[in-house]
Amino acid sequence: MAKIFCVANQKGGVGKTTTTVNLAAGLAKVGQRVLMVDLDPQGNATMGSGVDKRSMALSVYDVLLESATVQEAALFSEKCGYHVLGANRELAGAEVELVDVERREKRLKTALAAVDADYDFVLIDCPPSLSMLTLNGLCSAHGVIVPMQCEYFALEGLTDLVNTIKQVHANLNKDLQIIGLLRVMFDPRITLQMQVSDQLKAHFGDKVFDTVIPRNVRLAEAPSYGLPGVVFDPGAKGSQAFVTFATEMVARIDKM
Ligand code: ADP
Ligand code: MG
Repeated sequence: MAKIFCVANQKGGVGKTTTTVNLAAGLAKVGQRVLMVDLDPQGNATMGSGVDKRSMALSVYDVLLESATVQEAALFSEKCGYHVLGANRELAGAEVELVDVERREKRLKTALAAVDADYDFVLIDCPPSLSMLTLNGLCSAHGVIVPMQCEYFALEGLTDLVNTIKQVHANLNKDLQIIGLLRVMFDPRITLQMQVSDQLKAHFGDKVFDTVIPRNVRLAEAPSYGLPGVVFDPGAKGSQAFVTFATEMVARIDKM
Protein backbone atom coordinates (compact mmCIF):
# COMPACT_ATOMS: atom_id res chain seq x y z
CA MET A 1 0.00 0.00 0.00
CA ALA A 2 1.36 3.39 -1.01
CA LYS A 3 1.96 6.09 1.57
CA ILE A 4 0.88 9.42 0.14
CA PHE A 5 2.42 12.73 1.19
CA CYS A 6 1.75 16.31 0.18
CA VAL A 7 4.61 18.76 0.19
CA ALA A 8 2.77 21.94 1.07
CA ASN A 9 3.26 25.48 2.31
CA GLN A 10 1.11 28.32 1.03
CA LYS A 11 4.17 30.52 0.63
CA GLY A 12 6.01 30.51 -2.69
CA GLY A 13 9.75 29.97 -2.97
CA VAL A 14 10.12 28.09 0.32
CA GLY A 15 11.52 24.92 -1.25
CA LYS A 16 8.43 22.76 -1.90
CA THR A 17 9.43 21.69 -5.39
CA THR A 18 13.07 21.17 -4.46
CA THR A 19 11.94 19.00 -1.55
CA THR A 20 9.49 16.99 -3.66
CA VAL A 21 11.86 16.07 -6.49
CA ASN A 22 14.88 15.46 -4.27
CA LEU A 23 12.94 13.36 -1.78
CA ALA A 24 11.50 11.40 -4.72
CA ALA A 25 15.00 10.83 -6.11
CA GLY A 26 16.36 9.99 -2.65
CA LEU A 27 13.60 7.45 -2.03
CA ALA A 28 14.17 5.89 -5.45
CA LYS A 29 17.86 5.67 -4.63
CA VAL A 30 17.17 3.68 -1.46
CA GLY A 31 14.99 1.24 -3.40
CA GLN A 32 11.47 2.65 -2.99
CA ARG A 33 8.90 2.71 -5.79
CA VAL A 34 7.90 6.35 -6.15
CA LEU A 35 5.26 8.35 -8.00
CA MET A 36 5.73 12.13 -8.04
CA VAL A 37 2.56 14.11 -8.71
CA ASP A 38 2.92 17.72 -9.83
CA LEU A 39 -0.12 19.78 -8.78
CA ASP A 40 1.40 23.15 -9.65
CA PRO A 41 0.44 24.58 -13.09
CA GLN A 42 3.97 26.02 -13.28
CA GLY A 43 5.18 22.45 -13.86
CA ASN A 44 8.54 23.00 -12.13
CA ALA A 45 8.59 19.59 -10.51
CA THR A 46 7.78 18.03 -13.89
CA MET A 47 10.63 19.82 -15.69
CA GLY A 48 12.90 19.21 -12.68
CA SER A 49 12.31 15.48 -13.07
CA GLY A 50 13.44 15.36 -16.69
CA VAL A 51 9.95 15.47 -18.24
CA ASP A 52 9.16 18.17 -20.81
CA LYS A 53 5.87 19.73 -19.69
CA ARG A 54 5.20 21.10 -23.20
CA SER A 55 5.27 17.75 -24.95
CA MET A 56 3.34 15.58 -22.49
CA ALA A 57 0.39 13.83 -24.16
CA LEU A 58 -1.44 13.45 -20.85
CA SER A 59 -1.03 15.13 -17.49
CA VAL A 60 -2.54 15.39 -14.02
CA TYR A 61 -5.12 17.70 -15.60
CA ASP A 62 -6.57 14.79 -17.60
CA VAL A 63 -6.58 12.67 -14.44
CA LEU A 64 -8.49 15.33 -12.45
CA LEU A 65 -11.04 15.62 -15.25
CA GLU A 66 -11.27 11.82 -15.36
CA SER A 67 -10.33 11.59 -19.03
CA ALA A 68 -7.23 9.50 -18.21
CA THR A 69 -6.05 7.16 -15.47
CA VAL A 70 -2.86 7.68 -13.47
CA GLN A 71 -1.39 4.63 -15.15
CA GLU A 72 -2.05 6.12 -18.58
CA ALA A 73 -0.76 9.59 -17.75
CA ALA A 74 2.32 8.88 -15.59
CA LEU A 75 5.72 8.67 -17.27
CA PHE A 76 8.81 6.94 -15.96
CA SER A 77 11.83 9.22 -15.71
CA GLU A 78 14.77 6.95 -16.48
CA LYS A 79 17.34 9.38 -15.16
CA CYS A 80 15.51 10.02 -11.90
CA GLY A 81 14.21 6.51 -11.21
CA TYR A 82 10.63 7.46 -10.41
CA HIS A 83 7.30 7.97 -12.16
CA VAL A 84 6.03 11.46 -12.90
CA LEU A 85 2.41 12.53 -13.19
CA GLY A 86 3.20 15.88 -14.73
CA ALA A 87 1.58 19.28 -14.85
CA ASN A 88 1.58 22.26 -17.20
CA ARG A 89 -0.39 25.45 -17.71
CA GLU A 90 -3.48 23.50 -18.71
CA LEU A 91 -3.86 22.62 -15.04
CA ALA A 92 -4.69 26.23 -14.16
CA GLY A 93 -8.01 25.69 -15.97
CA ALA A 94 -8.92 22.70 -13.81
CA GLU A 95 -9.75 24.99 -10.92
CA VAL A 96 -12.63 26.51 -12.89
CA GLU A 97 -13.65 23.32 -14.67
CA LEU A 98 -14.02 21.47 -11.38
CA VAL A 99 -16.26 24.10 -9.79
CA ASP A 100 -19.51 22.40 -10.70
CA VAL A 101 -18.58 18.74 -10.46
CA GLU A 102 -19.40 16.39 -7.62
CA ARG A 103 -16.76 15.33 -5.09
CA ARG A 104 -14.39 17.68 -6.88
CA GLU A 105 -11.92 17.71 -3.99
CA LYS A 106 -11.65 13.88 -4.09
CA ARG A 107 -10.74 13.46 -7.76
CA LEU A 108 -7.03 12.84 -7.16
CA LYS A 109 -7.70 10.53 -4.21
CA THR A 110 -10.00 8.36 -6.33
CA ALA A 111 -7.49 8.24 -9.18
CA LEU A 112 -4.56 7.32 -6.90
CA ALA A 113 -6.52 4.45 -5.32
CA ALA A 114 -6.13 2.55 -8.60
CA VAL A 115 -2.31 2.56 -8.38
CA ASP A 116 -2.09 1.96 -4.64
CA ALA A 117 -0.26 -1.36 -5.06
CA ASP A 118 2.23 -0.03 -7.60
CA TYR A 119 4.13 2.38 -5.34
CA ASP A 120 5.63 2.62 -1.87
CA PHE A 121 5.48 6.43 -1.89
CA VAL A 122 3.41 9.02 -3.69
CA LEU A 123 4.73 12.58 -3.29
CA ILE A 124 2.53 15.51 -4.29
CA ASP A 125 4.07 18.90 -5.05
CA CYS A 126 1.43 21.52 -4.17
CA PRO A 127 1.07 25.03 -5.59
CA PRO A 128 1.69 28.03 -3.31
CA SER A 129 -1.95 28.56 -2.36
CA LEU A 130 -4.74 26.83 -0.51
CA SER A 131 -6.71 26.26 -3.72
CA MET A 132 -8.88 23.42 -5.07
CA LEU A 133 -5.69 21.84 -6.40
CA THR A 134 -4.02 21.88 -2.99
CA LEU A 135 -7.28 20.61 -1.48
CA ASN A 136 -7.17 17.64 -3.88
CA GLY A 137 -3.65 16.95 -2.64
CA LEU A 138 -4.63 17.21 1.03
CA CYS A 139 -7.68 14.97 0.54
CA SER A 140 -5.50 12.28 -1.05
CA ALA A 141 -2.73 12.24 1.52
CA HIS A 142 -1.86 10.44 4.72
CA GLY A 143 0.35 13.30 5.72
CA VAL A 144 1.85 16.67 4.95
CA ILE A 145 5.53 17.52 4.77
CA VAL A 146 6.05 21.23 5.34
CA PRO A 147 9.34 22.67 4.08
CA MET A 148 10.26 25.94 5.75
CA GLN A 149 13.02 28.43 6.01
CA CYS A 150 14.00 29.42 9.52
CA GLU A 151 13.16 33.08 9.13
CA TYR A 152 11.41 35.64 11.26
CA PHE A 153 7.91 35.19 9.83
CA ALA A 154 8.15 31.43 9.44
CA LEU A 155 6.06 30.54 12.49
CA GLU A 156 3.41 33.11 11.68
CA GLY A 157 2.96 31.68 8.19
CA LEU A 158 2.49 28.22 9.61
CA THR A 159 -0.72 29.13 11.45
CA ASP A 160 -2.84 29.32 8.26
CA LEU A 161 -1.50 26.04 6.98
CA VAL A 162 -2.01 24.27 10.32
CA ASN A 163 -5.61 25.56 10.45
CA THR A 164 -6.32 24.39 6.91
CA ILE A 165 -4.91 20.96 7.68
CA LYS A 166 -7.08 20.78 10.83
CA GLN A 167 -10.19 21.64 8.80
CA VAL A 168 -9.42 19.09 6.11
CA HIS A 169 -8.78 16.53 8.84
CA ALA A 170 -12.10 17.30 10.53
CA ASN A 171 -14.28 17.47 7.41
CA LEU A 172 -12.73 15.65 4.50
CA ASN A 173 -9.83 13.36 5.36
CA LYS A 174 -9.53 11.69 8.77
CA ASP A 175 -6.13 10.25 7.84
CA LEU A 176 -4.46 13.61 7.35
CA GLN A 177 -1.75 14.69 9.75
CA ILE A 178 1.35 16.85 9.67
CA ILE A 179 4.19 14.38 9.30
CA GLY A 180 6.79 16.96 9.89
CA LEU A 181 8.41 20.30 9.36
CA LEU A 182 11.54 20.21 7.24
CA ARG A 183 14.10 22.93 7.78
CA VAL A 184 15.44 23.88 4.34
CA MET A 185 17.97 26.35 2.91
CA PHE A 186 19.48 26.28 6.35
CA ASP A 187 22.61 28.22 7.24
CA PRO A 188 23.82 27.53 10.80
CA ARG A 189 26.11 30.58 10.66
CA ILE A 190 23.07 32.84 10.73
CA THR A 191 22.13 33.34 14.39
CA LEU A 192 18.49 34.12 13.61
CA GLN A 193 18.12 30.81 11.76
CA MET A 194 19.49 28.90 14.75
CA GLN A 195 17.07 30.77 17.03
CA VAL A 196 14.03 30.08 14.84
CA SER A 197 15.13 26.46 14.53
CA ASP A 198 15.23 26.16 18.34
CA GLN A 199 11.77 27.79 18.60
CA LEU A 200 10.42 25.31 16.07
CA LYS A 201 11.72 22.39 18.08
CA ALA A 202 10.36 23.85 21.32
CA HIS A 203 6.93 24.38 19.77
CA PHE A 204 6.54 21.35 17.51
CA GLY A 205 8.81 18.78 19.21
CA ASP A 206 9.29 15.59 17.22
CA LYS A 207 7.17 17.01 14.38
CA VAL A 208 10.42 18.68 13.31
CA PHE A 209 12.43 16.30 11.15
CA ASP A 210 15.92 15.45 12.40
CA THR A 211 17.37 16.03 8.94
CA VAL A 212 18.22 19.61 8.05
CA ILE A 213 18.66 20.63 4.40
CA PRO A 214 21.51 23.12 4.03
CA ARG A 215 21.54 26.01 1.60
CA ASN A 216 23.49 24.55 -1.29
CA VAL A 217 23.98 26.08 -4.72
CA ARG A 218 24.05 22.66 -6.44
CA LEU A 219 20.40 22.13 -5.44
CA ALA A 220 19.52 25.45 -7.08
CA GLU A 221 21.51 24.68 -10.24
CA ALA A 222 20.07 21.21 -10.82
CA PRO A 223 16.63 22.26 -12.21
CA SER A 224 18.25 24.00 -15.18
CA TYR A 225 19.59 20.57 -16.14
CA GLY A 226 16.14 19.04 -15.70
CA LEU A 227 17.27 16.99 -12.73
CA PRO A 228 16.93 16.84 -8.94
CA GLY A 229 20.17 17.71 -7.14
CA VAL A 230 20.33 14.13 -5.84
CA VAL A 231 20.76 12.94 -9.44
CA PHE A 232 22.64 15.93 -10.84
CA ASP A 233 25.35 15.97 -8.19
CA PRO A 234 24.99 13.11 -5.69
CA GLY A 235 28.10 14.19 -3.78
CA ALA A 236 26.83 17.69 -2.98
CA LYS A 237 26.01 18.40 0.67
CA GLY A 238 22.40 19.25 -0.15
CA SER A 239 21.94 16.04 -2.15
CA GLN A 240 23.38 13.93 0.65
CA ALA A 241 21.01 15.62 3.09
CA PHE A 242 18.03 14.67 0.92
CA VAL A 243 19.12 11.02 0.81
CA THR A 244 19.39 11.12 4.61
CA PHE A 245 15.91 12.66 4.69
CA ALA A 246 14.61 9.83 2.47
CA THR A 247 15.98 7.32 4.98
CA GLU A 248 14.32 9.23 7.82
CA MET A 249 11.00 9.13 5.95
CA VAL A 250 11.25 5.38 5.38
CA ALA A 251 11.85 4.92 9.13
CA ARG A 252 8.91 7.21 9.98
CA ILE A 253 6.40 5.37 7.84
CA ASP A 254 7.42 2.08 9.39
CA LYS A 255 6.08 3.57 12.63
CA MET A 256 2.89 5.03 11.11
P1 ADP B 1 8.64 26.46 -4.07
O1 ADP B 1 8.33 25.22 -4.82
O2 ADP B 1 8.17 26.41 -2.64
O3 ADP B 1 8.18 27.70 -4.77
P2 ADP B 1 11.41 25.98 -4.84
O4 ADP B 1 11.68 24.57 -4.46
O5 ADP B 1 11.10 26.24 -6.28
O6 ADP B 1 10.23 26.58 -3.93
O7 ADP B 1 12.64 26.85 -4.34
C1 ADP B 1 12.73 28.24 -4.53
C2 ADP B 1 14.13 28.61 -5.00
O8 ADP B 1 15.09 28.28 -3.98
C3 ADP B 1 14.56 27.85 -6.24
O9 ADP B 1 15.31 28.70 -7.05
C4 ADP B 1 15.44 26.72 -5.68
O10 ADP B 1 16.39 26.27 -6.61
C5 ADP B 1 16.07 27.38 -4.48
N1 ADP B 1 16.39 26.42 -3.41
C6 ADP B 1 15.54 25.55 -2.81
N2 ADP B 1 16.15 24.84 -1.84
C7 ADP B 1 17.45 25.26 -1.84
C8 ADP B 1 18.61 24.92 -1.03
N3 ADP B 1 18.55 24.01 -0.06
N4 ADP B 1 19.76 25.57 -1.31
C9 ADP B 1 19.82 26.52 -2.28
N5 ADP B 1 18.78 26.89 -3.04
C10 ADP B 1 17.60 26.27 -2.83
MG1 MG C 1 7.12 24.95 -6.51
